[in-house]
Amino acid sequence: VFTNHMIMDKGLVLLISIILVALNYGAVFVMHYFISDLYGLIASASTDHLTGLKNVRLFNSDLMEIERKKHPVTLAVIDIDHFKNCNDRYGHDSGDSILKQLAAMFNEMATPYTTFYRIGGEEFGVIADYFSQSEAEAFLHNLKSTVAHRNFAAQVGETINLTISVGVAHSQNGETLKKTLKRADMALYQAKENGRNRVMVSASA
Ligand code: GH3
Ligand code: MG
Ligand code: MG
Repeated sequence: VFTNHMIMDKGLVLLISIILVALNYGAVFVMHYFISDLYGLIASASTDHLTGLKNVRLFNSDLMEIERKKHPVTLAVIDIDHFKNCNDRYGHDSGDSILKQLAAMFNEMATPYTTFYRIGGEEFGVIADYFSQSEAEAFLHNLKSTVAHRNFAAQVGETINLTISVGVAHSQNGETLKKTLKRADMALYQAKENGRNRVMVSASA
């Protein structure tokens, strides 16, 4: 009787152990999917759906984060020149495709110190961090020239050339990044006024 009891106890312990292990695996499995879904959700909330670049929401939150750290940055605002003509000539879908090609080019050119964002329809933002002012300016000049020399596919068998205008502002002591961004916007406006396909750097505030 005693031996039978022992065998039954052992069987029960084994069964409970198997159930616990199975529950554990189940929980890990569910958690894994839950967490990857959550990551996916967080990533898509900060990604621009057309180009895959970081979106304006992330641009603003990254600016706030940098502002908290109080360390110097260069901000640039990029706008494609005469992009409306491109849509009018090739259609909106081709326009979208060109935006994607341009974003892919930005990704190719990005460095660990420069982050690109799509902040409007055909407007992009750049945050250059841990770059000196002259390095950031050289990077943006090179970007502008590279765009101008690149062929973009407009439709089957036809390529077009694009230019961009770039407004740049370096952050200054005691200035909010909102103000720095405003100066970059004003510099962009000057770049357009002065004939486009150029980089204009804002003078000090
Ligand atoms: P410029 O900047 O040189 O002054 O001239 P522009 O023709 O580029 O003028 P603007 O910057 O005001 O361009 C806005 C145009 O960009 C309007 C619209 O035709 C086009 N656009 C904006 N967002 C999108 C988009 O998501 N897809 C497409 N295909 N076109 C867009
Ligand atoms: Mg625009
Ligand atoms: Mg434009």
